[in-house]
Amino acid sequence: MTVITRFAPSPTGLVHVGSHRTALYNYIFTRQQGGKFILRVEDTDQNRYVEGAIENLLLSLEKLGIDYDAGPGKEDENGPYFQSKRNDIYKKEVQKLLDARYAYRCFCSMEMLEAARKEQIEKHIPTGYNGKCRNIPQEESDKRAETEDFVIRLKTPQEGVCAFHDIVRGDVQISWSQVDDQVLVKSDGFPTYHLANVVDDHYMDVTHIIRGEEWLPSVPKHLFLYDCFGWEPPRMVHLPLLLNADKSKLSKRQGDVAVEDYLKKGYVPEALNNFLALLGWNPGGKNEIYSMEELITAFDINKINKAGAVFDVQKLNWMNGQYIKNMDTAKYLKEARKWLGNTKVNESKLDTALMAVKTSLTTFQDIPDKLVVFTEDPVIPGEEAKEMLALDSTRTVFTSYVEKVSTLDILTVDSFKTVMKAIQTETGVKGKLLWMPVRIGLTGEMHGPELGYIAEYLGKNENLRRIQNN
Ligand code: GLU
Repeated sequence: MTVITRFAPSPTGLVHVGSHRTALYNYIFTRQQGGKFILRVEDTDQNRYVEGAIENLLLSLEKLGIDYDAGPGKEDENGPYFQSKRNDIYKKEVQKLLDARYAYRCFCSMEMLEAARKEQIEKHIPTGYNGKCRNIPQEESDKRAETEDFVIRLKTPQEGVCAFHDIVRGDVQISWSQVDDQVLVKSDGFPTYHLANVVDDHYMDVTHIIRGEEWLPSVPKHLFLYDCFGWEPPRMVHLPLLLNADKSKLSKRQGDVAVEDYLKKGYVPEALNNFLALLGWNPGGKNEIYSMEELITAFDINKINKAGAVFDVQKLNWMNGQYIKNMDTAKYLKEARKWLGNTKVNESKLDTALMAVKTSLTTFQDIPDKLVVFTEDPVIPGEEAKEMLALDSTRTVFTSYVEKVSTLDILTVDSFKTVMKAIQTETGVKGKLLWMPVRIGLTGEMHGPELGYIAEYLGKNENLRRIQNN
């Protein structure tokens, strides 16, 4: 069996990190299985459509390197891949349901539905459609349809339980009493998500539905639809929720939730993918850094967790720093140059300065702040730094530093290293006692970018000036 999956977002705004996690799991699993990965745009709800959302979705997938085999711009015989262009298909299918009495027309107005709902709340009975139009005789229904507005509802079973298997959740049972007579076609003639989703998954030959846990309660309606049509349903894979640090559902109020927010702040696409791929599954062991190829090899669909996964920004920050640190030099410099802000570092020394800050970035957005040490005189150090400067060993190190740097023609990352080694051999001072005073002398800071690059950037004379100032 060829695995066929789909990512089926509704274009209702920026791409949520949870939605991207869904795309990733579909992508990783499909690439591992050598299958076909479909992008289907679920845009039947005209009221929820947000201008530019489709463009944003496509761009976001492209930036994050998630390519699909069929979808917008990659049409094949199973397309079109925009639900808004498939209404004829849904109309034909829903007619089959009406003919077989698995679905019925409902003429209840919004006001009637609202009133019925109020009554249910007052009587403390579960809310949901009260079944008023369920048994209208066919002739009457046909006649009323000529003059009245109606929706089409699914006649779901009213008793017993719907039992099914989900690869993540195991055996699931949902009582039919909890399942409403779902609207399949709205009064504007457009299908709801439920109808369009089932019809498309069938005609697109989808074998595995991988999506967020919030869709689990909809499975009975979908399975009933498959039954009514006489179709084989795909396998179900419902991914665990993403949570805030306090275990509440991941929300905007507690931080950024759009993929774009993270890209705008200078997060590395590969790091975002790596981080999100491990929210809900991990290969075990200590390693947390995985390239896409490694994720594809290691992924195990049977080992996805049921429990919600905490979106830990600290961890993402750490991971992003690792990606920047290990990034190939040419790629890093090209990207870093997009994030210079108002830096005053001059062009001829820019690469050196950028290399110096490479290991101390969390995101690319940090670059302008980190570059300040190159263009401004060190500020008077704080107490702890002052104490360090006052040590005898520091005096010895500084004297030796000045002596050795004075003899150089030019100061480079390499000659700086040689100087530091020679000071260590000569004075016996090493580690923090050796490195930190030099850093403080040159930058005023106790921590920061790689010292060799700073020394090279400042040049011989400025090195001597700054150290001798102390
Ligand atoms: N359009 C739905 C969404 O945006 C898709 C759910 C599904 O994958 O079935 O979440």
